[in-house]
This record gives sequence, structure tokens and C-alpha cells, in this order.
Amino acid sequence: MDEVLVSYFKKPRSYTTEDMCEINSHGGNVMMHQILELCLKNGAELAEPGEFTKRAFLNGRIDLSQAESVIDIINAKTDREAREGMKQLEGFLANAIQDIKTQVLDVMTNIEVSIDYPEYDTPEILEDDLRKKMDDALKKLESLEKSFDTGKIVKEGIKTVIIGRPNAGKSSLLNAILKEERAIVTEFEGTTRDTIEEFVNINGIPLNLIDTAGIRSTQNEIEKIGIEKSKKMAKQADLIIFIIDSSKNMTEEDDEILETINPNKTIVILNKIDLGQKINDKTGKIRDFKNVIKMSALKREGLDEFYEKITALFNLNEVQVDNDILITNERHKIQIQKAIQNLNMAKDSLENKMPIDIVAISLKDVLSNLGEITGEEASEEIINEIFSRFCLGK
Ligand code: GDP
Repeated sequence: MDEVLVSYFKKPRSYTTEDMCEINSHGGNVMMHQILELCLKNGAELAEPGEFTKRAFLNGRIDLSQAESVIDIINAKTDREAREGMKQLEGFLANAIQDIKTQVLDVMTNIEVSIDYPEYDTPEILEDDLRKKMDDALKKLESLEKSFDTGKIVKEGIKTVIIGRPNAGKSSLLNAILKEERAIVTEFEGTTRDTIEEFVNINGIPLNLIDTAGIRSTQNEIEKIGIEKSKKMAKQADLIIFIIDSSKNMTEEDDEILETINPNKTIVILNKIDLGQKINDKTGKIRDFKNVIKMSALKREGLDEFYEKITALFNLNEVQVDNDILITNERHKIQIQKAIQNLNMAKDSLENKMPIDIVAISLKDVLSNLGEITGEEASEEIINEIFSRFCLGK
């Protein structure tokens, strides 16, 4: 049929830990189909989407968090996101969770000893020791939870809206950003169907620009969008870019919008500085904002300062630190939050001199929360849902 290369992977040293073989052919549709037909005729079965990775998980070579990272690596939009995926695949998160589980298990074993042999230890010493161990585990969980702020940005980008009155220069700014040589743009449909989101990676600054369709539509439609819409958009954003034509006087509308948006997550752009300035950082409500920059979107002046501001606002320089574990997955974050709750409950029960088996019940819940991340405790439904997101051949 063809001249092929067959690689044989002897178990357990294969992707799935089973005996496997791969056939590399010269490619081309006809030849690939013929080879596939021949395999199927001789007893092979077609794999489901994600089946190889699922088998690797079910056979215990990787845990569920590692399996999930395979999708992250495939879908990565930035180098950084791919790197985080790789770290997770290598088991950084799996090991951290395993560590915490061991610690909680240790506390549980101690509690069981004290239930079985009440005379074995003086309760005060034991209690102190248990409390210390629980505090330590709690600290680790809390630091993982906190990392999600950054993890979310790495994965989803900084949710950004551009607002301002008609003719302020919104679409000019958008074009300037998108035309940057350094920008890599991925367009996708927003969560609500009528918005378009654009993921822009400018030299490692991940921006998720929302409702860019509104900005691009005709002038009349922009008039219709109005103040209310601007306020609503600003509420859902991580970053608000308020752009104003600084060559004209401010209006009440400008002040009204500025009054409702959060200065801590806003960058005010004084646009059209090439036309001479009537507005500066002390004018009207702008004086309440600390991130104000001058720009000419038309001449593409002030963009670098703009990017520097974003980097500073979101600690993106610190985000470059690679040693820490980042939670990038919402599912993991939810389980970590539950584990924190249950661990606090265990601590409280101990503090309030509740029967020691009540403490043990909360600790068991912590273990099961963490087991949802690594997969031992995840239901079949969740596991199937996760692997259904894979494509064929992975
Ligand atoms: P939008 O309605 O907020 O999207 O504003 P546009 O980006 O469509 O800009 C409105 C007008 O202002 C257009 O004619 C632009 O070329 C012009 N404009 C935008 N930015 C600048 C600038 O920095 N300097 C000058 N001189 N004109 C600008």
C-alpha cells in the first residue's frame, strides 16, 4: 500500500501505559483512509475524542489535572499560557495537591489515634500540633486560590472595554492596537452571541477586548449605544479604557460616565493631543483618576506608555515569575475554595471542643474536594465532560 514507519511502544512505557503502535505514512487522504480501513478490518477500533489521554488518566499515568492541561496546551493563545499548561502536565499542581492531601491525612491519622487510644497523648499537645498542621495546609490552599487572579489573566486575558463618546477615537485606538506589529489577534464570539471578543497578545500583554463589534459599527449605532450601555460594559470589565477627545471641552456626559466607573481599573486616555489640549488630568472628574495618559491614536503616539500602564496595573512583570504554581482552571479554583471552607470548619470544631470525630468528618470533606482536582473523587460525569472537550487523536 505504502512505505510506512511503525513505532511500537511496549507497555507500560507508552502514552496510555498500554501496548501501542503508531503508523506514520506518507500522508494524503487516499492513503490514510486505506491504511485506516486495513487496521479496522483487522480488529482495530476508532478512538473517541480524547481517548488516549483518558486512558493515560484511567491507567494512572497522569492525574486529572494533568489530563486537563493537555487541552490548555493545545488551545494556548500565548507562550505564557502554553508554559503554564506544560507545568501542569509535568505535575506541578498534582504534586502540590498531593502534598496538602498528605498533610491533611496526617492530621486525620492523629485524630483517629486519639479516638482509639484516648490515653495516648495529652490532648493539649495533640491539639496544638493538629492546629499547626491545619494552619499550614490552609496557607498553601489559600496561596493556590489567590494565584487564580493571575491564572485567569494568563488564560483568558484582561477583560477590556473601550468606552467614550462618539468621535473620541475609540475605533482609531482599537485599530492602532490591532495593527501593532507585536500584536497577535484571535477573534472569537463572546459569551453572549451579539458581542465579538478579540484576544490580543501584545508582547505578552494578554488583552481580551470585548464588544469591539459595537465600536466598529456605524456612527448612528454608536449614538444609540449611549451612556447606559457604557456603564453596563464597564461593570463587567477588568480594565476600562475611557477615551476622550482632549481637543474639545468636556461634557456632562463625560463626567457622568466617569462618576460611575472604578478609577482603580481605569485608564483615561486624553486623545487627539496633536490638535492641542483643552483638557488635562485635572479637568472635571478626571482629577479622581490616577492613570491618565496623553495620546494621538491617529499618529500612534502614546501607545507604549499605554502598554506600560497596563503592565503596571496588573502586575504583569511579576506574573513573569515562573516558579510559582498558577491555578488557571475554574474547576480547580472552586474545589480549592471548598477545601478551604471545610478545613476552616475542622479548625473551628477543634477550637470549640466539638467531638473529635466531627473534626474528622470535615477533614474527610477536604480530602474529597482535593480528590476532585486530581480525579480520584471526580464523578464519571465530570470526567466524561472533560474528555469530551478533546479532539480526535489526543
Ligand atoms: P469613535 O467614534 O470613538 O470610534 O472615534 P473614531 O476613532 O472613529 O474617530 C473619530 C474621528 O477622529 C476620526 O475622523 C479620526 O480619524 C479622528 N481621530 C481619532 N484619533 C485622533 C487623533 O489622535 N488625532 C486626530 N487629529 N484625529 C483623531
